[in-house]
Amino acid sequence: MDIKFCSKCGATTNWRLPTGDSRHRFVCDTCNFIHYQNPNIVAGCIVYQEDSVLLCKRAIEPRLGFWTLPAGFMENGETTRQAAERETFEETGAKITSDQLFAITNTPQVNHVNIFYLAKLKNNNFHPTDESSEVKLFKKNDIPFEEIAFHTVKAVLENFFRDLKAEKFGMHQIDF
Ligand SMILES: [Zn+2]
Repeated sequence: MDIKFCSKCGATTNWRLPTGDSRHRFVCDTCNFIHYQNPNIVAGCIVYQEDSVLLCKRAIEPRLGFWTLPAGFMENGETTRQAAERETFEETGAKITSDQLFAITNTPQVNHVNIFYLAKLKNNNFHPTDESSEVKLFKKNDIPFEEIAFHTVKAVLENFFRDLKAEKFGMHQIDF
């Protein structure tokens, strides 16, 4: 993403190699601020009950109307687990107990890292939210795999159901 103006002083930036660096950055030559850009971390949960998984139908762009696991961008000042639990509650209204880390996906093409925890429902209260037009438990055969919002989520679900069948949950790194 281009950063045209310095976020510190508002002067026009230059795209150049800072002294001692190995990559080009947007640099402010007025106040010397270097605008580092790093991957975004998305954290979420695979909330499951017996052989069903909780999915949300997206009520917001991108991929409005497609199904996904509850997940969203991590905020400053929280851990990945806190982010996953917060996003799950915001998108599904579900109170959950998070469990082991299940998957990390890397999509360097778009500078995204996704982190998913396994989680269990504390009760059966979940509902549509501002971010999800529907929230529903799906058995594997009922999942609309052609209507899954992101290829990362599709891959995580495939790994989840493979491990569920084997009755042993692993930790997966999935790179695209
Ligand atoms: Zn500046």
